[in-house]
Amino acid sequence: MLTPSMIFHNGCVHTVDLHDTIVEALAISNNRIIATGTNEAITAMAADDTQRIDLGGRSLIPGILDTHAHAVEVGLFLKSLFCNGIPSIKDLVDAVAEKIAVLPKGAWLQGGCWIETQFSENRMPTRWDLDPVSPDHPVVIERIFSTCVANSCALHMAGITRNTPDPVGGTIERDSKTGEPTGILHRSAKALVRNIMSTGTDTGSLAGSSVAEIRALAQTAMQAFVAYGITGTLEAGVGPDMCRAYHDMHRSGDLLVRTSLMPNWYGFTITQNMAQMDRLIGEMGFYTGFGDEWLRLSGLKMAIDGGLTSKTALKSWPYLGGDPPGPVPLRLDLEKLDSWVKSAHDAGWSVGIHVMGDIAIEKAVNAMYQAHVANPANRRHQVIHAYYPSADSLAKMKQAKLVAAVQPAFIYGEADGYPNLLPEDKQECFLPLRTYLDAGVIVASSSDTPSAHFNPFWGMYAAVTRKGMQGHQLGTREAITAIEMLRTMTINGAYMTEDDHFKGSLEPGKAADLVMLDRNLNETPDESLKDITVEKTMIDGKFVYEKIGST
Ligand SMILES: [Zn+2]
Repeated sequence: MLTPSMIFHNGCVHTVDLHDTIVEALAISNNRIIATGTNEAITAMAADDTQRIDLGGRSLIPGILDTHAHAVEVGLFLKSLFCNGIPSIKDLVDAVAEKIAVLPKGAWLQGGCWIETQFSENRMPTRWDLDPVSPDHPVVIERIFSTCVANSCALHMAGITRNTPDPVGGTIERDSKTGEPTGILHRSAKALVRNIMSTGTDTGSLAGSSVAEIRALAQTAMQAFVAYGITGTLEAGVGPDMCRAYHDMHRSGDLLVRTSLMPNWYGFTITQNMAQMDRLIGEMGFYTGFGDEWLRLSGLKMAIDGGLTSKTALKSWPYLGGDPPGPVPLRLDLEKLDSWVKSAHDAGWSVGIHVMGDIAIEKAVNAMYQAHVANPANRRHQVIHAYYPSADSLAKMKQAKLVAAVQPAFIYGEADGYPNLLPEDKQECFLPLRTYLDAGVIVASSSDTPSAHFNPFWGMYAAVTRKGMQGHQLGTREAITAIEMLRTMTINGAYMTEDDHFKGSLEPGKAADLVMLDRNLNETPDESLKDITVEKTMIDGKFVYEKIGST
């Protein structure tokens, strides 16, 4: 029998095996888990030179898998200003001041991912909020969708005054009394400031950035991820430059977090050459699962509709206050969806399809289900976002083992805005985790960061309490338990990315990817789940994060 190089004992070890077994202790040998069991059994295995870590009653969980994320974009915002999760305009202004303190005079500060319903003030920030801390720096901060706020310095540089007319397809928001621009720019009006900024990662845009810059951004994000216990991620939507950046990182041994790549496919036509993509899946011989334990190919990413809060979801029921005029803009040709999915499925690829509305889900599920029935190969297709499944979709998802790739983090980040957007019954059944689990559908949770914050314990809190950041609750009917949620954040994500043979649970033979929490998860009240922090994160047997002062 192997002698452990390290043991963890005296804790609450959530193995997340088939039966959610909890044990007291775990042993690893270098980069692999070799045993789990009682304190007595595991400590008896230890030799003189075995390192011992006393968990002190705290939880040890499998490494968290954020299986739908945009790490490179997160890196971009972390480098500038990442606003998701900032609870008030006052805190936002403080964060701006902190960033500006280290910028040379006149340099741009760019940031993003705020949404007014996360702020306790429950309004959009204006130039007048930002100006006191930014008299000499142009500041532009993007909202999550199609709106930004600029400070007076940026408006001045862009030549925007009370006399500037609204551009076609956009609005310069103005103070109702004075007519002065408030700094809020909607849709095409954003270009008025965008156009005077140069491109490149220094100004918060990925357009025109080099492979080396992309690589640096991914590394920035990964450093942040490991502090939250994230040991594996899926980069949802990559083109050639991102693939190259990740490959470079892997080759030089700098890939901090295990990564699956999801190439952009139909629905992302802006950046992709479709003829090339067809060739890639049909002729080159690569398909889902290609790679090693650090860098692997996942499914092809497709998209049918837009966003729920941007009112571009393909659905059968109306928003509160009505829908925008005209049909929902679709991101691919629905007539061809079935044949595209089948061609990918038959070539060995799984696909992941972004679907927001109930009609979009049904189309995606049907295409995947038909491909499965015609060829019952082991594909792990992803129904991404999947807010409103029908009974028929649930049954097909179960039968074809389709994964609901969902983001409870959106409940935390956006639910406070739903009373103005969704009828009450549609709030209650939004992202129906209870229904999915009861129907036997495999659920993999992720953050879709930067659209939500990547703190996985905020997602866990939201799955259990159904509450947003400012406390609005979407009923309790669809709530699940923290232990159920943990499965969706670990082993189920590994299943989805075809990694469950070596990660996702704490079982002998699997990789030593594990996370020590600051408390015992089983004894944590629901309201405190959002406050859980990580003491240590281990990937492949090495500590990649240790909280200062952690024992
Ligand atoms: Zn996404």
